[in-house]
Amino acid sequence: MDQSQINAQRAQPIAPRHHLIDGKHMPASDGATMEVLSPIDGQGLTTIANGTARDMEAAVASARAAFEDRRWAGQPPAARKAVLRRWAELIEANALELAVLGVRDNGTEISMALKAEPGSAAGTIRYYAEALDKVYGEISPTPGDILGLIHKEPVGVVGAIVPWNFPLMIGAWKLGPALAKGNSVVLKPAETASLSLLRLADLALEAGLPPGVLNVVTGEGAVVGEALGLSMDVDVLVFTGSGGTGRRLLDYAARSNLKRVYLELGGKSPNIVFADAPDLDEAAKVAAAGIFRNAGQVCVAGSRLLIEDAIHDDFVAAVVKAAEAMRVGDPLDVTTQIGAVNSEAQLHQNLGFVETALSEGAEVVTGGARILDETGGYYMAPTIVTGVTPDATLAQKEVFGPVLSVTAFTTDDDAIRIANSTVYGLAGAVWTSNLSRAHRMVRAVRTGVMHVNTYGGADGTVPLGGVGQSGNGSDKSLHALDKYVNLKTAWIKL
Ligand code: NAD
Repeated sequence: MDQSQINAQRAQPIAPRHHLIDGKHMPASDGATMEVLSPIDGQGLTTIANGTARDMEAAVASARAAFEDRRWAGQPPAARKAVLRRWAELIEANALELAVLGVRDNGTEISMALKAEPGSAAGTIRYYAEALDKVYGEISPTPGDILGLIHKEPVGVVGAIVPWNFPLMIGAWKLGPALAKGNSVVLKPAETASLSLLRLADLALEAGLPPGVLNVVTGEGAVVGEALGLSMDVDVLVFTGSGGTGRRLLDYAARSNLKRVYLELGGKSPNIVFADAPDLDEAAKVAAAGIFRNAGQVCVAGSRLLIEDAIHDDFVAAVVKAAEAMRVGDPLDVTTQIGAVNSEAQLHQNLGFVETALSEGAEVVTGGARILDETGGYYMAPTIVTGVTPDATLAQKEVFGPVLSVTAFTTDDDAIRIANSTVYGLAGAVWTSNLSRAHRMVRAVRTGVMHVNTYGGADGTVPLGGVGQSGNGSDKSLHALDKYVNLKTAWIKL
C-alpha cells in the first residue's frame, strides 16, 4: 500500500451523486439532497440524492422491465459470466479509488478496507460468475414413465438493503448471487456509506450489465427503504443491518405482497478462552483485533470475551496490552489499525453503553472515552470492560463499537450456558488444545459460525448467517444462491 497514492486519491473532490435508475444518473424526484459528512474530520464530503418513494417506485419499475424483457436473464450463461468477470476486473483495477472513497465516507481503516472492500467484492463477484455455469438443476428419482425436473428459476426483482460498515463487501454478497442467477436488483445503501456502492454500480454498467438490471437508490431508510420493503413488485428482500430494521422489513412484507425476506442481523459473539489454549499471547492479540478492527463495527466481532477464571487476570492484562498497542487515528493512514466510528450518533451510543456498564457495577480497565477530538472526527479508544455479569446490558445488547465485555467462567458447561444466554447467534470462538473440547463447544454454542483457535477468518467458500435473532438465510458460498431462485417442478409423462 502506497501512502502517496492514497493521499492523491483523498485529495480528489467528490462530485454530488445521484441515484442510478435505468442506467441513468437521476436526482431525487423533488431535487432533495443529503449532505455526506466524513467521520474522519466531521466535514462535508459531497451530497447524495435524498430519495423519495417515487424514486424507489421508478427503480423497481426499471428492474421489473429489465427482468421481464429478459435482457439479462435471457442471455446465455457464458455471456452473463463474461460480464460479471469483467466487472470483477474493473473493481480490481479501481480498487484504490473505491477503497479511499469508501473510507472517506464510512471511516474504516484503509489497511482493512482495501482487502475487505474492493478486494472482497471482486472476489465475490468472480466466485458467482464462475459458479453460474457450473451449478445444475436436478432430475428427481421418479418411476420410469415420468421425468421429474427441478428448475431453479430467478425470482425476478430483488431488493437489497445494506449497512455502512462494509458496503462493498456486503453489497457484493447480495449482488453476486442475485445477478448470477439472472435477477434484477434494486440496491439501497446506508445513508452514511453510499458513495462506493454508487461507483461500484457504474463499473457494472461499464462491464456490460444492461441498464435497469442494477439500480441504486440513496436516501433515508425510513423513506426509500420502506418504499422498497412495501413494494408490490419486489419478489425477494435481502437485508443486512440491525434487528429493529429487520423486524420492520418482515412487517412490510406482511403488509404488501408477502415477499420473501432474508435477514442478516447483529450479534453478541462469545470468544471463549480456556486455560489450555495453545498460545495465550496469540489468543490475546487476536481477541483484541477481533473486537477492535473497524472500531468494532463488524457484525461478527468477538464482543463478549469469556475467560476461564484460572487465567482471567493474566489474560485480561494481555488483551489490555494488545488493545493499548493498537493505533487509533486517521483511517487513511496506512499504519492506522482502528479507524473512525461511522457517525457522531454511533459514537454517542457507544459511550452510552460504557456509562450503563459502569452503573451496573462493571469496571472499565482501558479506554471508555472519545479521543482525538481536535480532528473533528469520531474516534473512540478501544475499551475493555471487566466484571460484566451474563445478564448485564453490555453482555446482552450489541454495541457495534470498540467495546469489549469480559466475563469469567469456571467449567465447560458454565461457558456454554453464558455463551448461549443472549438472543443472538451469529459467530463465536473457542481457544483450547483439547480436540474433544473444541468439537463439543462447536456443537454446543448456538451460532452461524464457530472459530477454533482463531477469530474472524473466513472466505467466500463458507456461508455466513445467523441463528436466533441474528437472522436467517446465509450470504456467501453456493448456499447463498438458493435465496435468489424459485424451485419449479416439471412433471412430464413420457
Ligand atoms: P440499520 O438497520 O440502521 O440500517 C441498515 C440499512 O437499513 C440502511 O441502509 C438503512 O438505511 C436501512 N433502513 C433503516 N431503516 C429502515 C426502514 N425503516 N426501512 C427500510 N430500510 C431501513 O443498521 P446499521 O446501523 O446500518 O448497521 C449496523 C447493524 O448491522 C448492526 O446491528 C450489525 O450487527 C448489523 N450487521 C450485520 C451483519 C451480518 O452479516 N449479520 C453484517 C454487518 C452489519
